[in-house]
Amino acid sequence: MGRIAVTCAWLITAWIVALAACSPRVVAVTPAADAVARTVVEAVAAPVRSDPPRGAAAVAPRAASPAQRGFPFGERRAEWIPATPWNYDRGRFGERVEFIVIHYTAISYERTLRAFTSPASGVSAHYVVRHDGQVTQMVSEDDTAWQAGNYWFNLRSVGIEIELAPGESNDAFTAEQYYAAASLACGVAARHGVALDRAHVVGHNEIPGPGKIDPGPTWGWPHFMYLTSLCAPPTSSGLHARFVDQSPYPEVDPGGIGTVSVVLENTGAVAWRKGESTEVRLGIPGNDPRLAFLGAGWPTPARPAVQAEDLVPPGGRATFKFSVTGELPGSYLIPLRPVVDGVTWLEDQGMHTVLKVRD
Ligand SMILES: [Zn+2]
Repeated sequence: MGRIAVTCAWLITAWIVALAACSPRVVAVTPAADAVARTVVEAVAAPVRSDPPRGAAAVAPRAASPAQRGFPFGERRAEWIPATPWNYDRGRFGERVEFIVIHYTAISYERTLRAFTSPASGVSAHYVVRHDGQVTQMVSEDDTAWQAGNYWFNLRSVGIEIELAPGESNDAFTAEQYYAAASLACGVAARHGVALDRAHVVGHNEIPGPGKIDPGPTWGWPHFMYLTSLCAPPTSSGLHARFVDQSPYPEVDPGGIGTVSVVLENTGAVAWRKGESTEVRLGIPGNDPRLAFLGAGWPTPARPAVQAEDLVPPGGRATFKFSVTGELPGSYLIPLRPVVDGVTWLEDQGMHTVLKVRD
């Protein structure tokens, strides 16, 4: 909702279809602008394909990872208090959930629930998060809540109301509310495939329509998006990488061992967590195991390295280190591409290293 003179939700004219005013933003996929220049080097390798990862069976096991291990706030169980059927539409008329809309109530939790259960108000939201982090669900995610003040968005979004009512309940958003809302967002993302980035997680004020200000300037977007990154389900839409740097090509005597280091930036919306389902590995494109004879201590024949850091949040940098060796003099090209096994390959930026074994 959000206060103008009265709460904005009261002003929602849910029947207005505002198709023309809405042009959803698109997730930009980082181009390979920083890719290292490809060089032609005599390679022993067979032709490199670019098959998708074959799933967990083909790769090294991760550490046992109970759901959301390390996530500071766990999964929330929502209390179910249905809104009156007069305040929402059954179903979504063939549309699917693409957005999450963040609101604040501008009135207390109790008054918000009264509004959503009263046919006179003509408003509703899927969830209400009380000041102490308690989550109440009022509309099924399969149904169209009247919360965005824009019917195009209503059909395509899940609305989360955060209690904020200065002088009435809480004057500021609480840590528990951030945790609960982030957990909710992660659940919605997992159920509907919503990308947890700012193109798809939006404030009510960012939706075309008459004067909405919520969630307002005190809502900590960076903090909230950081929290969602910790629990976001690993999907191809949320996992992206950009090449940053790598060590010089290694040179060794026959039988010697060289080291390679590659630095990547997490340009996606999902935190990379070592040992869990979002662990990023450096892979040989196509999962070709035939370069494994150049490896020394690689986790698996087609995976030279895993991320060194336990947690790489969006915007953070990950380091990948591995050793190479060779017996026969020559130059050997080792192509590299980041991958989250069982989920997706990340951007192919032409990364590679070249091992030179001296005469
Ligand atoms: Zn609102």
